[in-house]
Amino acid sequence: MLATITSGQEAIALEEKYGAHNYHPLPVVLTKGEGVFLWDVDGKRYYDFLSAYSAVNQGHCHPRIINTLIDQAKELTLTSRAFYNDKLGLAEKFVCETFGYNKALFMNSGAEANETAIKLARKWGYTKKGIEANKAIIVAVKNNFHGRTTAIISASNDSLATKNFGPFMPGFEIVNYDDISALEKALTNKNVCGLWIEPIQGEAGVYVPQDGYLKAAEKLCKQNNVLLMMDEIQTGIARTGKMLAGDHENVRPDLLILGKALSGGVLPISLVLADDEIMLVIKPGEHGSTFGGNPLAAAVVVEAMLVVKDEKLAENAERMGVVFRHRMNALKKKTELITLVRGKGLLNAIVINDTEDSQTAWNICLKLAENGLLAKPTHGNIIRLAPPLVITEEQVHECCDIIEKIIVGFLR
Ligand code: PLP
Repeated sequence: MLATITSGQEAIALEEKYGAHNYHPLPVVLTKGEGVFLWDVDGKRYYDFLSAYSAVNQGHCHPRIINTLIDQAKELTLTSRAFYNDKLGLAEKFVCETFGYNKALFMNSGAEANETAIKLARKWGYTKKGIEANKAIIVAVKNNFHGRTTAIISASNDSLATKNFGPFMPGFEIVNYDDISALEKALTNKNVCGLWIEPIQGEAGVYVPQDGYLKAAEKLCKQNNVLLMMDEIQTGIARTGKMLAGDHENVRPDLLILGKALSGGVLPISLVLADDEIMLVIKPGEHGSTFGGNPLAAAVVVEAMLVVKDEKLAENAERMGVVFRHRMNALKKKTELITLVRGKGLLNAIVINDTEDSQTAWNICLKLAENGLLAKPTHGNIIRLAPPLVITEEQVHECCDIIEKIIVGFLR
């Protein structure tokens, strides 16, 4: 059995000494979670305003999801896809019916689901669109975030993600986000097989495109026989006030890419959804994952999605988002420290009036933590605020009171 930590300092020291330094965590050591709350090893309670980058939409340790996990773990956890199991087909049917597609391909991490979508788009491009061998192009957009693999970072313009990790994979063209005329131009190239976008750019700092951008992108893809590849890993599963962020504009992508909250933060589960004509271009042996579509994940994904529906989390995210932004916009009027409030549903951000390389947002997050609220800056001067979707109106107000107290009293 794992030994017990004697203090938060010990836990931090162990991670520093034995763990890779690929993250820069806030100095809190968490040991328990329930609903919207997390507790540290000293028993201090926090509101979670990160939700594990929107993976814990259903709240921490949701009893229905955890009980499903335990029950299934006692029966069967992994067979690999060398054999059939009695849960995967049921989960595939469930997600296909929920999202309205013919077929699902389960993976684990979000990055793997995006890799899957890249392979599907390319193979579709060669076998259906007739693109000449090895000439396929996927159009991506500036400031995208789709994961950390070498193929995915080949489409990134973030130097932190790319510097010293080359050589990069060819076959990506990067255009400006939220720029319809850039799409009009890029998609006419006959070698383009896919347009790869996030409906709201989460990691970039919660950039919400203009109304109509996604609809225009869908139309241009159809006109040019290009697959719309929508990465809803952060925005999906009720986070923005609809089951999918694309639902705000009635957009139906050809490849829908999901992850994170598919499991309520309990297991790494991701998937790609598509219709037969696209999904069946991949044949046995051409793609896979030992853990992808395991029976434990199959059981968990169905229960986690039922929780979203039964507890009306999309509706709650929509309503609480309005309350939250109303409070943040009122706060913005009181202080010069906030220059912008933006977001949809419960995926929101405040932009701090300082440079990207300043410590201000980080120091505000330290103060918020001291006062019982956990949030993290993204890109230096932007603080993303994204609690679990089970948050109540009273709790939203309590959290806004904490944020207001810190921001108004903050001295640089
Ligand atoms: N795509 C988007 C939009 C994301 O926000 C993330 C993670 O933050 C990913 C992909 C990568 O997911 P994972 O970390 O599970 O590989």
